[in-house]
Amino acid sequence: MAQIDTLPPLRQVIAEHGLSAKKSLGQNFLLDLNLTARIARVPGDLSAADVLEIGPGPGGLTRGLLASGARKVLAIEKDERCLPALSQVAEAYPGRLEVISGDALDVDPLGHLTPPIHIAANLPYNVGTELLVRWLTPAVWPPFWTSLTLMFQKEVAERIVAKTGSKAYGRLAILAQWRTDAEIALTLPPQAFVPAPKVHSAVVHLRALPAPRYPANPTTLSRLVAAAFNQRRKMLRASLKGISGDIEAQLNEVGIDPTRRAETVSLEEFCALARQLDAASPSHV
Ligand code: SAM
Repeated sequence: MAQIDTLPPLRQVIAEHGLSAKKSLGQNFLLDLNLTARIARVPGDLSAADVLEIGPGPGGLTRGLLASGARKVLAIEKDERCLPALSQVAEAYPGRLEVISGDALDVDPLGHLTPPIHIAANLPYNVGTELLVRWLTPAVWPPFWTSLTLMFQKEVAERIVAKTGSKAYGRLAILAQWRTDAEIALTLPPQAFVPAPKVHSAVVHLRALPAPRYPANPTTLSRLVAAAFNQRRKMLRASLKGISGDIEAQLNEVGIDPTRRAETVSLEEFCALARQLDAASPSHV
């Protein structure tokens, strides 16, 4: 197996620093540096870009990113036990790795990064989804990041890239696909991690579009999609009743049959309905 750097193998790093995996921090480590280098190549050439990495742990993906040529990596890690191992990585790549000890949900990384900025992470499911939603719903678009390369449980990855009409299609698909190009870059079996999780994982790559795919007010669209998919088995005329007093008329106005269910409604149609609702009642949001 080709070496990606001169640092010790990750198994040795974990043993030397006593990094036994903690379930509470969602720790499932990637030990194959060729695999982490492969994930690091998903965003493309990083030599003129900064990378924000969340949850570097013992540094597998961090080393992949640095070996692949990232200009700078800013890594935010909650588990202080990982800091000495990450210091060794920083020494091997002088001036290119900055580590912040803290919770990624609380730290504002922007003052530490220079655009263009890519985000890469192998995160626990709950934190990952919360951060993804935050990154996809900033106050202004385009966001501060150019692309996101994120490891998720395969089932979550499938919800992000799901097409209209599929079982996985829902709020996450709309949120992601409205303003990004989203695709699954690779799928990994449980054995790729130590300890092995119960399910397969997948790396999703999301590239920010310069502008939303279709115009719509983000707040209106978000309310609409939440209501539609909260009761996805119901017909739209029932699930969207709380959104507008005359929802049937609004649906008909944009050519959506009120007896359809949420999972049959395309992103373009949701955006058209959001615009219609705003036009009909500008103050309803
Ligand atoms: N990147 C490493 C890898 O691929 O082997 C570790 C991945 S492990 C799935 C998740 C990492 O995220 C752990 O190192 C864990 O301590 C860290 N973590 C968990 N919650 C976090 C949070 N809220 N903020 C920052 N790091 C967090």
